[in-house]
Amino acid sequence: MKAAVLHGPRDLRVEAAARPRPEPGEVLVRVVAAGLCGTDYRIWTGERPVGYPRVMGHELVGRVEATASGVASVTTGDRIVVEPNYSCGRCPLCREGNRNLCLSRTAVGIDVDGGFAELVSVPARCCWPVPAAAEADALMLTEPLAVVVRAVARGAPKRGETAAVVGAGSLGLLALQVLRARGARVLVVSRSRRRFALATELGAEATLTTAEGPLADAARRFSTREGVDLVVETAGTAEAVTHALDLVRPGGRVVVTGLPHEPTSVPFFSVVRREVTIVGSMIYQDEFPEALRLIASGAVRTPPLITHRFGLDRIGEAFTAHAGPDAIKVALAI
Ligand SMILES: [Zn+2]
Ligand SMILES: [Zn+2]
Repeated sequence: MKAAVLHGPRDLRVEAAARPRPEPGEVLVRVVAAGLCGTDYRIWTGERPVGYPRVMGHELVGRVEATASGVASVTTGDRIVVEPNYSCGRCPLCREGNRNLCLSRTAVGIDVDGGFAELVSVPARCCWPVPAAAEADALMLTEPLAVVVRAVARGAPKRGETAAVVGAGSLGLLALQVLRARGARVLVVSRSRRRFALATELGAEATLTTAEGPLADAARRFSTREGVDLVVETAGTAEAVTHALDLVRPGGRVVVTGLPHEPTSVPFFSVVRREVTIVGSMIYQDEFPEALRLIASGAVRTPPLITHRFGLDRIGEAFTAHAGPDAIKVALAI
């Protein structure tokens, strides 16, 4: 089979690779489409080291090619999306349901080979059969959508509340739509206006650049009170938490999903004096079914976020496109 194999930083070669052999409990998946994200990009540059050689790719839509022994949940021919993280299932965190926090978590496309290939082998519990009517394009963002479904749920929005989304990349534009589906009024905040027309089309009631005057004033105008009830941070920049604290009202909630790895300065004075609740959100626990429901119902529209499309042979161009200013989601058709 053909696979894009990363042999070292920026050394990605499309080549013939051994057909994966599913172990008991595993499923061989024929990949139909794969999304490329910032994590793949950081692995490609070497900023996030992995064991080489490695096949990246964790946002996967495919079809069950074969099943090994002990698989009952899916059958050959099923259309599926892959939940690309699985935990040990035995530690205290797993047993209490916090499997996203398991210290022995395995990430497909990072710790083990992923789906920038014609075939990939994954545990059966990672395969979610998809609604018959849903198209591959709509399904390709199921994984990032599951991340966002959890992040929004961690912020517990109530119908009629005001929310701000910091960042207008793929996660931000998904968070906007999930918040809308939960009945919140949404302000989208970004460094640039580039995505504002799309954000408005997808349901943003207002948009704001971080350069447009004090964010706190804009949040007061939007909310017609002391700030927004909830902020979902998706930007992953060092200043994003400060922006979130500027936007949120006293007693409000901030969900942090996109933080950079380096230490970030946070004005905790503002957290304490105003009793702001800050919560982190890490991938997903049980959010795939809800993500699939939101796609199937049309409450979340993902095809407008797919800006680029390449065949597997042109994966190098896909990485270049990802870094470009007009990329939201770069897709590989495999
Ligand atoms: Zn990703
Ligand atoms: Zn565990």
